[in-house]
Amino acid sequence: MKHLYGPVVSRRLGLSLGVSLTPHKTCDFDCLYCQLGKTTNKTRERRTYIAVGEIFDELRTWFQENASQAAQLAFVTLSGCGEPTLHTEFGTLIQRIKENFAVKVAVITNASYLNDRFVRSAIINADLIVPSLDAATQAVFERIDRPVPGLCIEGVIDGIVSLRNEFKGTLWLEVMLVKGVNDDIRHIRRLKEAIEKINPDKIQLNSPVRSTAEPGILPVGKNKLEKIREMLGEKCEIV
Ligand code: SF4
Repeated sequence: MKHLYGPVVSRRLGLSLGVSLTPHKTCDFDCLYCQLGKTTNKTRERRTYIAVGEIFDELRTWFQENASQAAQLAFVTLSGCGEPTLHTEFGTLIQRIKENFAVKVAVITNASYLNDRFVRSAIINADLIVPSLDAATQAVFERIDRPVPGLCIEGVIDGIVSLRNEFKGTLWLEVMLVKGVNDDIRHIRRLKEAIEKINPDKIQLNSPVRSTAEPGILPVGKNKLEKIREMLGEKCEIV
């Protein structure tokens, strides 16, 4: 299978079958902490990177050959080797999955295209959306996520707020904290203001534990992480 990975058991999603919609590694960010390594195709170009029919055929084969595992699946998750919303037909894939298999669909996204109403109208057919938000200021955004030039954090935050208003499913906001990069308490206060505007169902705090795109990327210590969790309120959990 070229475009599927897993299924993997994750603490967050349970048993999840991953689908990659782009070649490795196609993204408009180049996050310091990315577990996939450095972004080799840093782009804002939206196109059909892989034919939807090709991905769907793999899924159909997987469901046919793994009926008992399929019955246990919590989600088919669009994520993978880059940013899934860069694929212009990811919404078609969500619809085809939901029409053909009895499974929920999750989308893990860096949220950079959520201020585009066509992207939002496609993504709202998912059951669970997990956008990430690591920064509340442009300076921190550029430092941690290293987006393509011209992308502004206000637009990203506005996009997640618009999605929240239009999406009836479950929205978990993921915040990745890197020691010395975005864990300053003044920055966390700004992040909290943005999160209050978004009003997600859950806030999931994370800190890098595996290999990262850049060397020397450190997790935030346990005590500080706990303090930040308290600051962000009862919907916040450390994952
Ligand atoms: S947005 Fe995701 S895939 Fe893209 S660089 Fe960041 S962590 Fe990696």
